[in-house]
Amino acid sequence: MSDSTAFETALVLFSGGQDSATCLAWALQHFARAEMLGFSYGQRHAIELSCREPLVDGMRSLRADWALRLGESHTLDIPTLAAIADTALTRDVAIAMGEDGLPNTFVPGRNLLFLTFAAALAYRRGIRHIVGGMCETDYSGYPDCRDATIRAMQTALRLGMNTTFELHTPLMWLDKAGTWKLAHELGGAGLVDLIREHSHTCYLGERGVRHQWGYGCGQCPACALRARGWREYAGEGAE
Ligand code: ZN
Repeated sequence: MSDSTAFETALVLFSGGQDSATCLAWALQHFARAEMLGFSYGQRHAIELSCREPLVDGMRSLRADWALRLGESHTLDIPTLAAIADTALTRDVAIAMGEDGLPNTFVPGRNLLFLTFAAALAYRRGIRHIVGGMCETDYSGYPDCRDATIRAMQTALRLGMNTTFELHTPLMWLDKAGTWKLAHELGGAGLVDLIREHSHTCYLGERGVRHQWGYGCGQCPACALRARGWREYAGEGAE
């Protein structure tokens, strides 16, 4: 990060999950303005997307300087992703990978597609900074979350759109406990509480039960990861 970025705008991949909410706060802290981009591609994620508004409203209330920096929120429909996730072939693969903790909605290379759409939108809006919650530490099963992938993608996007895009991944080397810690550094207990209450991580899209770490089924790999990270961060025993 150079000082000049403090006068620039960032486009944040913002799904309404814990990671992307933390990334949005990070962008509000480091850039003059932050716009948001979410992708709509299936029913389970509709719940996650509906978390965006209360999160943004909460950040606006939390800090007056953040309120001034919050820009437009964009949503792009990519129904093609659901078609890929639904194919029998992919489902067979997903079941095999389920033991490694990957969800059965796994779409190969999903982040490559997201970053390409984000870059195209950023280009049209004159934005060169893109912020995403990709993380190598907790998601070794997703090759498109690896730092090497993101670096290669940055090179491809720069060449392919003839721009000076910078892809920022502030969570790349953090585990889930570290992500909660970063949220606390950025916005104190108020931000931690906001993310705990309103962000959505559960793969099954459940928000019925409120755990210490937030809402979710409590069983799926995403809930298990979020719960473990919270316990490490908060220094709690088993829930
Ligand atoms: Zn869950």
